[in-house]
Amino acid sequence: MDELEEVKLLVEEAEAIRLKDLEGLEQEECAQNMNISRSTFSRLLDIARHKVAGALLNGKAIRIEGGNYEMAVRRFRCLEGHEWEVSFETMISAPPALCPECNTRSIMPLFTPITGHGKG
Ligand SMILES: [Zn+2]
Repeated sequence: MDELEEVKLLVEEAEAIRLKDLEGLEQEECAQNMNISRSTFSRLLDIARHKVAGALLNGKAIRIEGGNYEMAVRRFRCLEGHEWEVSFETMISAPPALCPECNTRSIMPLFTPITGHGKG
């Protein structure tokens, strides 16, 4: 048996690399895109790049699996007022198109306010 060793990459780490290295966005934009702080994004990217570099140089496979970042969850609301949460993983693979309660297509994402950015 010669199994290929695997390096596990969390979805948010994969997303960090995708935004920064594939899409070529600035760190600031990437962080906003993922709804996380710039320093968190920077740390995430470091970890992700380290894992990918290690996999490349050591001939390991890369497996992307579910992460569990708190801010990775997005809330949605439909016109009828139903609210539900969508995991980051789902956001990437199959973003919601309709409300799970009433099936209306009139839905919109709710962006959770970032701490320290209060509205008066
Ligand atoms: Zn609804």
